[in-house]
Amino acid sequence: MTNAYFTQPPTGIWTLMAPVRGRVIAAIAFSALSAFCSIVSLLTLPFITSELLSEAPAPGVIWRWVAVAIGLVIVAFTSRSVAYRVSHFGAYDLEVVLRTALTEHLAKVPLGYVVNTGSGAIKKLVQDDVKSLHAVVADSTPLIGQACTIPIVSLAAMLIADWRLGLVTFAILPVGLIFIRLALQDNQEQRNAYDRANEDINKVIIEFVQGMQVVRTFDDGSSSFARFQTSLNAFTQTLHDWNRKTQISARLGSLLFEPLPTLVVVSVVGAQLLSQGSLTIPRLLVFLLLAPRLCGAFKPILTFAYMINQSNAGALRICSVLAEPALPQPTQPQQPSDSSLSFRNVTFAYGDGDPVLKNISLQLPAGSVTALVGPSGAGKTTLARLLPRFWDVNAGTIEIGGVDIRQMTSETLMSWVSFVFQDTFLLQDTVFNNIRLGRPNATRTQVEAAAQAAQAHQFILDLPQGYDTLAGERGGQLSGGQRQRITIARAILQDNPIIVLDEATAFADPENEALIQAAIAALTQDKTLIVVAHRLMTITEADQIVVLDQGRLVEVGKHEQLIAADGTYARLWSQHESAQDWGLGTKQLEQV
Ligand code: ADP
Repeated sequence: MTNAYFTQPPTGIWTLMAPVRGRVIAAIAFSALSAFCSIVSLLTLPFITSELLSEAPAPGVIWRWVAVAIGLVIVAFTSRSVAYRVSHFGAYDLEVVLRTALTEHLAKVPLGYVVNTGSGAIKKLVQDDVKSLHAVVADSTPLIGQACTIPIVSLAAMLIADWRLGLVTFAILPVGLIFIRLALQDNQEQRNAYDRANEDINKVIIEFVQGMQVVRTFDDGSSSFARFQTSLNAFTQTLHDWNRKTQISARLGSLLFEPLPTLVVVSVVGAQLLSQGSLTIPRLLVFLLLAPRLCGAFKPILTFAYMINQSNAGALRICSVLAEPALPQPTQPQQPSDSSLSFRNVTFAYGDGDPVLKNISLQLPAGSVTALVGPSGAGKTTLARLLPRFWDVNAGTIEIGGVDIRQMTSETLMSWVSFVFQDTFLLQDTVFNNIRLGRPNATRTQVEAAAQAAQAHQFILDLPQGYDTLAGERGGQLSGGQRQRITIARAILQDNPIIVLDEATAFADPENEALIQAAIAALTQDKTLIVVAHRLMTITEADQIVVLDQGRLVEVGKHEQLIAADGTYARLWSQHESAQDWGLGTKQLEQV
């Protein structure tokens, strides 16, 4: 079972609607009833006409038919509005169910999956893709009821009225359906081309905007604008092609949806039968009333198919997220005895790729400082991220205080390990609440003490509303370094025994470096610290330095030992020193 809302993992648009299936069926049924009543109400006219044409029309009979017609129109109108009401309520419920199911599920899948998917894609999924399903349920399910009922009831009535003319009208239908099919087929191909062209444009726009700073340093932006222009031209061409290809079938198709062609056929054949005396006027009336609407009755199918097309890709994305396996939770959760860490023969690969960590074994005593160093791509960040279970190892174990991290609940693990990665993440909330996220029941004094330790108290007080200033995306007045110190304050408040720190993020802002160093010192005091080091200066005092290269552990030791060993670390160190001499940036070290 995927979660509380779906008994089966959803595999497409229909299975995603399962939680509101009852309402979808009710909406279809009510709209079918509405379509039925509106057609039958029309059929009272031939009876009224027949009475009027009789030798002695009885007003009582005529009024009875009029009353029946009015009654049917009322039922048709009411059931139609009930159908839309039911479908709209169903659609709102489905939105809530899907958003809840998605967010609950995303909280259970490995963090690494969330990181890899990216916040933009998740936002699109939870907002836009769910919204497009709303449209399918709200607006198109009643169309199904109409599309099924109108042709069947109309044809049945026509065949009863006169089977010959009925068959003639019936013969027009397959022609209409062929054109619908053609229009839809072209539509799908062209839609794919359109989506591709659209994606290209989006990519180029993002590149254009993100690279603006760099581009503008070299030229006036005209060369990257030219790339944008090329994509735009390709997009326009796709639209032209689409238009041209679907023009003929769409025009012929829409001609058949018009009442006139059907009406002409029915009138010509009808007049012929009438003149032979084998058809009565009331019976011909049945055709004149129903036949013109017959082909048009298929229009809802087109609208419906279009809507399904529009939302299908989104529905499949939602299904694939819901199908992502949750992080396995232990059946008998255990608590670590202390904050020592051990990695035993850890091997890990992203997905089906080659291992990026190979057989790593490491001991980190409680309260020690371990620095992970190595060239870019060596696997430092990956190793650090395995600890909070961004992903689970493929082989080997990671233990905290002698307990395999997979034998702890997520809550226990998160109460032992804090990580400061790209964690300048702030909620759309006050600075106070952003810090308190670390410990939701903390008092104001505790929050302020944590901010003080993180060198953040003073600048927070200088903000327009102090601790009540809004942070988050719109908290534009906060600098990168200030945001970092807020997240460090959050981790200080959390006071977990183990800290995983990505130094690259921590020192991203040189202006605040001294302050951030002090904040980190407060955060990591007496903690088991594992730091992904990008600059060697800061880690010379570490209890142990772990050198990784191409996923393998190549050296472990203290700074002096490793320098004396004259291996990879010594090489990195000398490159670091010469980079310092040349006044080069830290990134150079990464390239070694
Ligand atoms: P380091 O931190 O030492 O620079 P990483 O741990 O970031 O190294 O990367 C190790 C290897 O894993 C690299 O080859 C990198 O391309 C790959 N890698 C890193 N993150 C991901 C990811 N999220 N998905 C797939 N591959 C990744």
